[in-house]
Amino acid sequence: MRWLLVSWAAISVLWAETVAFDRVADEILDRRLEAVQRKNPDRKEAMAAMFFEAGCSGDQYSERMVKGSKLPNLVCVLPGSSDEILMVGAHYDKVKAGDGAIDNWTGASLLASLYESHKKYGHRYTIWFVAFTDEEAGLIGSKAFVKNMQREELARLKAFVNIDSVGTGNLKVWAKRAHRPFSNLAATVGKQLQIEISAMDVDAVGDSDSHPFVDKKVPVIDFHSLDEKSFRMLHTDKDVLAAVNRERYRETYRFLTVYLGILDQWMGKLADGG
Ligand SMILES: [Zn+2]
Repeated sequence: MRWLLVSWAAISVLWAETVAFDRVADEILDRRLEAVQRKNPDRKEAMAAMFFEAGCSGDQYSERMVKGSKLPNLVCVLPGSSDEILMVGAHYDKVKAGDGAIDNWTGASLLASLYESHKKYGHRYTIWFVAFTDEEAGLIGSKAFVKNMQREELARLKAFVNIDSVGTGNLKVWAKRAHRPFSNLAATVGKQLQIEISAMDVDAVGDSDSHPFVDKKVPVIDFHSLDEKSFRMLHTDKDVLAAVNRERYRETYRFLTVYLGILDQWMGKLADGG
C-alpha cells in the first residue's frame, strides 16, 4: 500500500520536495514485533526471516561474522544513485533477563519495515540496514563492524542512525551525542508529522551502538523512547512485549520512515552546526 506523499512545501520553499515510500500495514508491524524470541540465536533467525520477508535477499543481504560473538551482524543494502552510505542500525541481541522486547526488538524489528518502505523508490544514498549482534555484551557487533570497514568505505559513510529501545513512550533523541543538523531535522520532521520528538540524554546511564561510529567521527543520531520509568524496566523481567505501546511503536515507524527519506534528500545540504 502506498502511503502519503509528504509535501514539504508547507515548511519553506527549500523543502518543496516530496518523499515517496510504501506504508507497511499495522498488522505487519505488529506481527514483526510479536516475532520476538527469548534466545539470541532464535532472534538472529527471526531477524533474517524478517529481512527476507521484507524483500531483502540475494546480493542485498549478507551476514558478517563477528570476532568474539557466536552470532553475525546482519546487513541489508539498498542501493542508491551514489555510493555514499547512510546507515541505519539496531541491535537484535538481548540480556538474559526478560524478553528483550523493548531492548531492542522494537528497534531491530523496525529495520525490516523501514527497508520495505523504501525499497521501491530511488535514493541518493546507499542505505545499509544493519542488525547488530552482542550490543549488550559491550557493543561487540558494532565495534567489529566499524573495525572491519575499509578506510574508503568509512569515508563514504555519511550518517549513522541508531534505534535502541523505542515504543515505550514519545520518541526521543540522544541530543548530546547527535550531530546537530540531524537532531534539528528530526525536530522539523516531527513537527510536520505532528509527532512529538524530545531530547533526552542517556550517556549517564548507558551506551549504544553509535559509540564506535562517533569514535570514527561519523555523524550520528540515536533514537529511543526512554524515560526514568521505562529505563528501569530494561534488563529486567519487566522488559516484555506488553510493555511496548503499539501506538507509539507505529508512530515511531511512521516518523523514521519519513525521516530517512528526508535525510536522504537533505543530508548533503544540511549545514554543519545547523
Ligand atoms: Zn539496547
